Amino acid sequence: MTRKLAPGRLIVASHNQGKVREIGDLLLPFGIETVSAGDLGFEEPEETEDNFAGNARIKAHFAAKSGGLPALSDDSGIEVDGLDGAPGVYTADWAETPNGRDFPMAMKKVWDLLEQKNAPYPRSARFVCTLCLAWPDGHDEVFRGEVKGVVGWPMRGAQGFGFDPIFTPDGFDQTFGEMDPAKKHEMSHRADAFRKLVAACF
Ligand code: IMP
Repeated sequence: MTRKLAPGRLIVASHNQGKVREIGDLLLPFGIETVSAGDLGFEEPEETEDNFAGNARIKAHFAAKSGGLPALSDDSGIEVDGLDGAPGVYTADWAETPNGRDFPMAMKKVWDLLEQKNAPYPRSARFVCTLCLAWPDGHDEVFRGEVKGVVGWPMRGAQGFGFDPIFTPDGFDQTFGEMDPAKKHEMSHRADAFRKLVAACF
């Protein structure tokens, strides 16, 4: 049976400020007090799985056990059809440099590869988000959400984070980078997974 989340504190099992902010916004209406794994000084566990759910589980269980509280993690990424689903689970890795993450560089890499392959238009893609809610006793619940759209060039907009400036959701003209955050929260992959989490566990 699906376990419900009891009132109290919840750890957001992420060191990514963009994700922590968005998850905090999504949790706001539920009056849940959140604290992030980064603020608690937890290490970031290694993401050794080759799928979103596996990595989400690693992060949520690590934080729940470290903090003795329920923990919510997010493993997400962008799957580009013209690149056979890459960067997918390795989305964050594509931005790694010796001096930290460089998302403009990673977005250019995606676009350059599509150009090299002469990929057909529309250059369809989807953002995927897997949320894992884990408890210190080892129980967990996992939910997957997605939003379909296209990638385009040049990058547009300074809102959001990560790959938002090259992603335009289907049915809209603005990229996630240009969109008001509240509007992104109505339709994003994170919001989709979040709705499922709320229906099941809240
Ligand atoms: P991970 O889940 O920490 O392995 O990293 C996921 C990566 O996917 C992030 O670093 C972002 O680059 C990207 N990503 C996930 N969700 C979003 C989003 O809502 N907007 C833009 N990029 C995202």
